[in-house]
Amino acid sequence: MTARVNLIGTLLTIAAAAGLAACGGASQKPEGGAQEAATAMEARVDKTAFGTTENGTAVDLYTLKNRNGMIVRVTNYGGIVTELHAPDRAGRFDDVVLGFKTLRPYLESHPYFGAIIGRVGNRIAKGRFTLNGREYTLAINDGQNHLHGGLKGFDKVIWQGQASEVADGASLTLSYASPDGEEGYPGTLATTVVYTLTNQNELRIDYMATTDKATPVNLTNHSYFNLTGEGLGDILGHELMLAADRFTPVDAGLIPTGEIKAVAGTPMDFTTPSTIGSRIAQVPLADPGGYDHNYVLSSGGGTLALAARVREPKTGRVLEVSTTEPGIQFYTGNFLDGKLTGKRGVTYKKHFGFCLETQHFPDSVNHPAFPTTILEPGQTYRTTTVYKFTAQ
Ligand code: BGC
Repeated sequence: MTARVNLIGTLLTIAAAAGLAACGGASQKPEGGAQEAATAMEARVDKTAFGTTENGTAVDLYTLKNRNGMIVRVTNYGGIVTELHAPDRAGRFDDVVLGFKTLRPYLESHPYFGAIIGRVGNRIAKGRFTLNGREYTLAINDGQNHLHGGLKGFDKVIWQGQASEVADGASLTLSYASPDGEEGYPGTLATTVVYTLTNQNELRIDYMATTDKATPVNLTNHSYFNLTGEGLGDILGHELMLAADRFTPVDAGLIPTGEIKAVAGTPMDFTTPSTIGSRIAQVPLADPGGYDHNYVLSSGGGTLALAARVREPKTGRVLEVSTTEPGIQFYTGNFLDGKLTGKRGVTYKKHFGFCLETQHFPDSVNHPAFPTTILEPGQTYRTTTVYKFTAQ
């Protein structure tokens, strides 16, 4: 974990002055109303009320700002990133993640917009696995399979929030203790997720967990990006590079077959940049089609390495994803069907957003050849993913 320093006194003045010099007088303000105007150039984090759940629990919304005027909003309901305002090449900010304006639609059914996913992200075949000689049965919520932690995964729980200004930006620490047996998983899992909006225009996510019984863990974030701006059309013209020359083929239920296959010569190959839409029609995936695959990152995981780079040609916005994880799920919003209305009042249609979910491979718990997702008592689960925004 990076050391935390509060920006106080002289330190604050020095950091703010350095920021002014570094950002070269960029003066565009993010969208979203007068109170959002980035008057102070130092990073900060504020907390406001976001509503209440059906059982009356108050939910908060945290606003993280960095000294370049970038804004990220996160609610402690599901740890959901509700807004992320990034500059284009002219310095104009727009919200580049799908989501809703209010809490209500998040409490209803939605496809994991912006949420923390756990205890195990992605699918576990038939919701079953054997660990230390014991068979476990998990909640089934995706056909015959277990998806994204089950019926009430980490995307639907209330997290404890702790905001702080740190040396390099604004930070929110979210904690949740998942009880033994929740959704069928063994052991109490003490989970911490730290969102940091840095002054380098990065959203850094540090995941940590400890357990009192051996359990699978695979945490990720399920943000849907559209670098044009949320609701402003599909993402098929975005150019993508994935630092992966292999992927894990899946069956009709999107469960890995166990094979690890080269992308070369297939529409799965993004080792050199190409638009997301250029070969999407040829992807061999059942209706509704599109990309929904785990890529095997060439880094092998373990150290923070570049996993993906996406560029939107009209605005010039670039997103770089770095991670310590060995895999990344590239999902092109195939199941978006125009039924949900986003923050701009526009309905989200097929391919209106893409996800890059850094992760261990799907169904790892049933594939001994895949990198393990098992966390043992006494160990600390630690992964980091960084989403960096630039424009060119
Ligand atoms: C999965 C998709 C699923 C989506 C839910 C993705 O991570 O790979 O198959 O439909 O999440 O919105």
